[in-house]
Amino acid sequence: MSASAPATRELAELTGPEAAATLTADSIVVLPIGSIEHHGDHLPLATDLIMADVLSSRIVAQAAASGQDVWRLPPLAYTKSDEHHWAPGTFWIGADELLATLRSIGRSLAATPARTLVLFNGHGGNVALLGVALRELRRLYGLRTFAMSVAVPSGDGDSAGIGGPDEEGLGIHGGWGETSLLMHLRPELVHADRFKRAIPEGLSSNRLIGFGGAPVQFGWLSDDFGFDGLLGDPTGSTAEVGAGIATDLVARSVAGLAEIATFNPKGTS
Ligand SMILES: [Zn+2]
Repeated sequence: MSASAPATRELAELTGPEAAATLTADSIVVLPIGSIEHHGDHLPLATDLIMADVLSSRIVAQAAASGQDVWRLPPLAYTKSDEHHWAPGTFWIGADELLATLRSIGRSLAATPARTLVLFNGHGGNVALLGVALRELRRLYGLRTFAMSVAVPSGDGDSAGIGGPDEEGLGIHGGWGETSLLMHLRPELVHADRFKRAIPEGLSSNRLIGFGGAPVQFGWLSDDFGFDGLLGDPTGSTAEVGAGIATDLVARSVAGLAEIATFNPKGTS
């Protein structure tokens, strides 16, 4: 970039002409994606938005400092949180609306010189749809599309070498990893006096049915488990654990952006 290039890496802080002059076919644009949804009575509704917003800022700043041509869009706050539809304070849009929104953002990006979009997602409920969106945007607009998620340890004690309470791999919502991350990012918003264990013990006795990569998937709503929408055990969460998770995540994501910059599915350069 030239010496007169803008100092910011926030794309929306540029003027239109600056954006047109600064972005190139090599530019990588990161879209943070959060949610406004019930996270029990110890975490704020904006938990996923805060994680996606703050961590993507750090990632883009570090990647830019290491010479990468990377930019950040303002975060998408309202997304597909229909699993928490029953909880007051959840503000969600449907799968069709989120896909349409991502399609429109991709179309808008395709009108700039940039050709690479990275979705940086803080909400697990969006993951399946983001996979659909990556292909849609590739096919419709020829964009190079990628997704990265705020992956927090499930609290099985072996993630990133950090010991933690046993959540039986079910700490997927408001549990130890996510709560620790929030204690690091926005400690004033975490209510440590309200931590309670919310692990559906009966679920782990299933041999085939489960979350994530289990052979048999199931459709669920967050009030199916009898724990007021939580799935995890925040007991023992600390800001220090959260800081470690954040450091690892940022380093891995910065490395991911470097790989994206030169990625060629044909395997040749
Ligand atoms: Zn969350």
